[in-house]
Amino acid sequence: MDAVRHLAGEIGPRPGHTRAYFRAADWVEEQLERHGWQVTRQRFHSPPGVSWGVPVAGGTSVNLVATRGDVRPGEPWLAVGAHLDTVPQAPGAEDNASGVGALLAIAEATRDSRTRLPLVLVAFGSEEPRGEGDEHHHYGSRAYVAGLAGQERRSLRGMVSLDRVGVGEVLPIGSVSEPSALRAEVAGAAERARVPHVLETGQASSDHWSFVRDGLPGVRLGGTSYGAYHDETDTPDVVDPAQLARTIRTVLAWLR
Ligand SMILES: [Zn+2]
Repeated sequence: MDAVRHLAGEIGPRPGHTRAYFRAADWVEEQLERHGWQVTRQRFHSPPGVSWGVPVAGGTSVNLVATRGDVRPGEPWLAVGAHLDTVPQAPGAEDNASGVGALLAIAEATRDSRTRLPLVLVAFGSEEPRGEGDEHHHYGSRAYVAGLAGQERRSLRGMVSLDRVGVGEVLPIGSVSEPSALRAEVAGAAERARVPHVLETGQASSDHWSFVRDGLPGVRLGGTSYGAYHDETDTPDVVDPAQLARTIRTVLAWLR
């Protein structure tokens, strides 16, 4: 909730190439480092376009890639990501300071505890659309996937995208298509964590899609519809800490 209040309440709208985005990135990087993670910045181009009806300029954006130093070339690993940008008109509390807040809580919880495999945490830039269709969104995660070496691709065992995880009482677990072994695995984790959840298919609207389109395993947590979606009323009061907790417990059970 600190992240939700800071990113949406103080910084506000932060399309991927803007000064506000870089202020948000500086803050998230600081939090990750405070929790003991090493952060590198991956720069990529975010093109000009129309984002949810509002023209936006192009420019450089960044992904923040955090590790604990335990990822080894060719060895299996897991990834959890959340997009940090917003559409121009929304302060982005639920979409997606909620996901970033959950990501930071996971960073804190896994700092000194082992996960079953090495873990990479990523805050993605420029997830939000800059035009119509698949080629005009998810720029940060596409740049991340494009930057993976063949060996890293082959050894990635699963990527979970946290996107709008603070609204509702039931946690959506969505895959692009059926069947998805990873979705079943994450649903099993939700069960162990006693988190009420619902399985969705045809879920392509988040950063996991960039992985799946390249043949890598990805699922999305979150996405319950809400009235303030991509709107100036997407403010911190929209986010329910209990739904954030359900998300965090599910991811921790999956990582354990
Ligand atoms: Zn989103």
